[in-house]
Amino acid sequence: MPTWIQRGAAAVALTLLATSAMAQQGGLPLALRGQLVQGGLVIGKTVSGATVTLVIDRKFWWEKARKRVRDKLPVAADGLFVFGLGREAPPTAVLKVRLPNGQVISHQLKIRQRRYRVQRIKGVARKYVTPPKRQKARIKREFLMVVEARKRFSDRRDFTRPFKWPVAGRISGVYGNQRFFNGVPRQPHFGLDLAAARGRPVRAPVPGVVILTHHLFFAGKTVMLDHGRGVTTTYIHLHKILVKPGDVVTQGQIIGQVGSTGRSTGPHLHWGMNWKQIRLDPAQMMHHTVGAVRSKRRRSRSQRSRGRMHRGRRGQ
Ligand SMILES: [Zn+2]
Repeated sequence: MPTWIQRGAAAVALTLLATSAMAQQGGLPLALRGQLVQGGLVIGKTVSGATVTLVIDRKFWWEKARKRVRDKLPVAADGLFVFGLGREAPPTAVLKVRLPNGQVISHQLKIRQRRYRVQRIKGVARKYVTPPKRQKARIKREFLMVVEARKRFSDRRDFTRPFKWPVAGRISGVYGNQRFFNGVPRQPHFGLDLAAARGRPVRAPVPGVVILTHHLFFAGKTVMLDHGRGVTTTYIHLHKILVKPGDVVTQGQIIGQVGSTGRSTGPHLHWGMNWKQIRLDPAQMMHHTVGAVRSKRRRSRSQRSRGRMHRGRRGQ
């Protein structure tokens, strides 16, 4: 059982002393682990029969202002729940936990704010910057298909396991960058780019179920995996897709090959992650992998690569 950890939030630190075993004994009604940061995934444990509501001022990247939402989080029979924090998540939010005895606990979350860089990518084929009119219907249809796939809810809990890298490669693009394609502003970069040679195997970082395989206009050849409770991961620009919808994949199983299909300027894997419709940063899942030495080295490598990403090669 991994340790319940938390970074940079003193208010939460006390509850984090609670192990899942303590929660089961009824000692503490709330324990959290994961990353309380923009783009992070947070896994919670409460007592059986409790209800949990996330009160957060939410905003999507295309919106001007944040709107308060009360998200009732599905709680499993044993008290497990999960939620994600988007690119624009505010500095604070509140978890309201109603215990079976009627007691309500309001727990303030402090969310680490990130600074996103501007990334300018040149040499993108014109049709991917300003798509031709005749592609409009296809783009819309595919957008709705992806939205629909992310509405899936299953009882799987693969996301509680330590993630493994889907491909060994240099990090060539990080989550959250504001992007310009050939000088035209477009949506931020919602994923992690790993540069690797065409044909290199792409592996499932944790077990999951294949929920979508398709050749999409922008994303190219795409595989989406469901890891349970609204958590999905996405693998795009693939050269080959080697699974089909409904397949149950194990950790490390090959699901496709690295490629450069769709809006891509060179062979790489774009790895995306979602909680429902909220785009998360898969790199956050690699910060708390089991094995301190290995994860430390990986962290410093990704930090070094941050300084290099302006070269803008192999982007998207
Ligand atoms: Zn990318």
